[in-house]
Amino acid sequence: KTPAVQGSSGHPKQLYILFFAEMWERFSFYGMKALLLAYMVTQLKFDEPKGYAILGSYAALVYTMPMFGGMMADRFLGNRKAVLFGGILMSIGHLVLAVPQGWSFFYGMAFIICGNGFFKPNISSLVGTLYADNDPKKDSGFSLFYMGINIGAALGGLLCGYVGQRINWHYGFGLAGIFMIVGLVVFYIGGKSLGHRGLPPDADALKKPLFAGITTEVVIYLATLCLVPVVVILFNQYQVMDVIMFGLGAIAIIYILFTAFRLEKTERYKLFSALILVIFSTLFWAFYEQNSGSLNLFAMRNVDMRVGGSDLPPLSVNNFLPPAWVILLSFFFAWLWPALNRRRREPSTPLKFAFSFILMGIGFYVFYAACAASRETGLISLFSFVAGYFFIISGELCISPIGLSMITKLSPKRMVALMMGMWFFASALGEFFAGKIGSLMSVPEAVVYNPVLSLPYYATILNKIGMYSIGIGILLICFVPLIRKWMSDVR
Ligand code: GLN
Repeated sequence: KTPAVQGSSGHPKQLYILFFAEMWERFSFYGMKALLLAYMVTQLKFDEPKGYAILGSYAALVYTMPMFGGMMADRFLGNRKAVLFGGILMSIGHLVLAVPQGWSFFYGMAFIICGNGFFKPNISSLVGTLYADNDPKKDSGFSLFYMGINIGAALGGLLCGYVGQRINWHYGFGLAGIFMIVGLVVFYIGGKSLGHRGLPPDADALKKPLFAGITTEVVIYLATLCLVPVVVILFNQYQVMDVIMFGLGAIAIIYILFTAFRLEKTERYKLFSALILVIFSTLFWAFYEQNSGSLNLFAMRNVDMRVGGSDLPPLSVNNFLPPAWVILLSFFFAWLWPALNRRRREPSTPLKFAFSFILMGIGFYVFYAACAASRETGLISLFSFVAGYFFIISGELCISPIGLSMITKLSPKRMVALMMGMWFFASALGEFFAGKIGSLMSVPEAVVYNPVLSLPYYATILNKIGMYSIGIGILLICFVPLIRKWMSDVR
């Protein structure tokens, strides 16, 4: 077995390989997402509700596929082959998007969806394999990894947003593609140092021909390629997407409840508490993901981007701010939780979830208050835009990293991977609802160039999001005692 070589920080050196591979992958993922809605609305001339529906379907499928990719890796491929295959599909997807032809748009996104399903869950699982379960460094290893995600996201949003909007949309998509390939090469070369980690569970079975000399491994690759055109069709069938997303959600909940009843009492209630928190997280992402949807168009139309004598590029600003706040505030939270813990004052996981909604609600209220104060010009100040995101991202840090470790603590050992899939599926459902909420902010074609007239379309809904988010946070506070009881010894 290959030991995890300790770096000077005390973390295994392989962590940095995974860190850089994921960093560049997220660069391309968020770089492309920064451009997506604005490209559809301003270049492809899709009407706004259609743009939101496609964005919602795309992002929902992106986060649904990890269940499939995770399952294939656990049973057949192992994490490493899955990451490589996923990375190749994503690179193809990004390069296809860079082609300025009508067909390339949906095919590019479909490749990215299928590739992400293999890449995202398996690179995260590989991080887990570097540490023993009881290693206290495991949590900080994941925090470092989350930092890599956000450095990539910040750079991607900044650069692709700028190149796409100011120079050429297809160059923006192409730039994202180049860095996906960089991530893939980093993983291909550095991945060898992972030794036995993430290898297929049964390498011989994988190489055995199933029929006509075709092996299980090749069947998985071919089946995934066949999924690409199916995904392309799904994009344009909104009613079918509704049925799929609600159907999958219902099946997942029923399946978990069914399994729970076969567990012993303490484990069952722990699982119930995890399920309730996962359901709440769906609502969180539904509001939060306005960032990659409605807030892109809001930034273009209703935020005053003048600084000094120049105009900042709105897509860059809107997509740089959230990950940049994550990076800065991570340091604060890394200090805050242990400091409160030492004084026995650290909030429980469900209470942190409740705070995340309240903080996010305050953030949306900041946007709303800025709108209310800017009716005459139609442009809110850059400062209030930055300040609103400060609260929203403080909320993210009370739910997103906490949720990951909550899943590993509350799920029975043999269900952790499944529950992790559920955690990402909650993001999928959230993204899907985010598209529907975004479409309530559709601005009629006639007023898109007039900030004074477009502002109210955003203000009304931003106000409601703020109100509902705070309301949900308060509701969750009422549930905290019950959830804590169900969580038993887990905090
Ligand atoms: N921003 C994080 C990432 O890209 C979390 C996304 C999510 O769970 N929806 O990994």
